Amino acid sequence: MVENSQVQLVEKPTTAALNRFVTPFDISKLVAEYGTPLYLVDEDTLHAKAKELHGAYSKFKGPVKVAYSIKANFTPAVVKSFMKDGMTFDLTSLGELHFVKQCKADPENIIYTSVTEEPDEYLEVLQSGVRRVVVSSFNGMANLAKAASKIGVRPLTMIRVNPEVGVKAEVRASYRNGKFGVPFNGGTIDSATKMVKHIMGSDLLKFEGFHFHLGSQITDFSCYTHALDKMDAFMTKMKKEYPAFQVNTFDIGGGTPVFYNDPVPTPAQMAENHVGRLNQLAETHGTFTLMIESGRYLVAESSILVSRIVNTKEYNEHKIVIVDAGYHILLDAALLKQEYPQEVVPVVDSKDRTTALTTTVKNTHLAGRLCDTYDVFPLSKVSDLSESDVGRYVSFYNVGAYSVVFNMPFHCQTKPPIVMKDGDGKFRLVRKGTSYEHLFVEEGGDLA
Ligand SMILES: *Cc1c(COP(=O)(O)O)cnc(C)c1O
Repeated sequence: MVENSQVQLVEKPTTAALNRFVTPFDISKLVAEYGTPLYLVDEDTLHAKAKELHGAYSKFKGPVKVAYSIKANFTPAVVKSFMKDGMTFDLTSLGELHFVKQCKADPENIIYTSVTEEPDEYLEVLQSGVRRVVVSSFNGMANLAKAASKIGVRPLTMIRVNPEVGVKAEVRASYRNGKFGVPFNGGTIDSATKMVKHIMGSDLLKFEGFHFHLGSQITDFSCYTHALDKMDAFMTKMKKEYPAFQVNTFDIGGGTPVFYNDPVPTPAQMAENHVGRLNQLAETHGTFTLMIESGRYLVAESSILVSRIVNTKEYNEHKIVIVDAGYHILLDAALLKQEYPQEVVPVVDSKDRTTALTTTVKNTHLAGRLCDTYDVFPLSKVSDLSESDVGRYVSFYNVGAYSVVFNMPFHCQTKPPIVMKDGDGKFRLVRKGTSYEHLFVEEGGDLA
């Protein structure tokens, strides 16, 4: 059989793909009010992405649920926007649980997938009404059972499997002897085989299904094909041993890619790769609810970071453009060499153009404000830094995922404010920026 998991993309990268939900005029008004750096979030984009991801799996012959992995962006305004879409929330910590509870999310719409799996943690999770838990170790499963017996509930228990398939992606979560999940059969109690056996015989836990998460920014979908083939064989084996064995929920994790640099397949193209196999699984083993998790895809394109060019210098045909942002607010630029598309914001009024344009320089480098070698932003193929003069603004696109959550105070830098463009087109402050005084106290300035 011919594997055709690599979707062929012929389009050239183009700035037309950027989500320009604010005009240069909007930006000039917003920076006048809130300063820079400034994060902007578009609520309509959040809803559109939720809808598109759900719709991509419309050919699945069973219920489909989309879960938002709030680790990608836990801004309460973002969580509340997704609640309007009937979103399920994929949580990994008690802190995240606190956030979604404060936002008044229904515990019915929570799936809890912990790495730590501590007894007190599970107690709090179950006490808060959450009933769907993904366990990733034998010890974690035992802790969940203990917590369940203490409060007299029987949680729907899913097993996080590490299918140990090769993943070609920016971030890999499935690899042999990895930290996440358990192998099908690793020769110890920490295996899906042993854990299914235990749950099938348990009065405290109810077997609900399986979960795997392969990685992030996946563009070669063969890993899903391979993981599903392995799941199929494993489920056949389990059904033979336990006639009552039935998968009610099957969660294929995250990984839906986002455009930063080169065009990426759409969720529909991604689903096309494996929806047939998922239908086959449902036909062979009984129908189930398909769960799709996503962090990056659901939020990345919703946000722009606006920074101001504060300094420039030129030598040896190179121009160094320094902005008032840095990797303290866009960590993945340094960590993963993430190439966020950047663009100098057009001037609204030509009289604002103060400095002479420097168009002769060949190599423009976009650098942050930190005293650190890594604080130079990789440029996307669609980045446009012409007219990068002092006083102009630079927009970083598609920064909604894994950026706000990493904001850190390196160099005593404060957190930028976040402004949301609501569904009705109005701008609204949804996170205040922090002050130096706030940071001083947070760092113990009042205790010193
Ligand atoms: C991070 C994570 C996701 C989301 O991954 P994305 O690539 O952001 O879609 C989904 N599931 C689990 C278990 C995760 O840890």
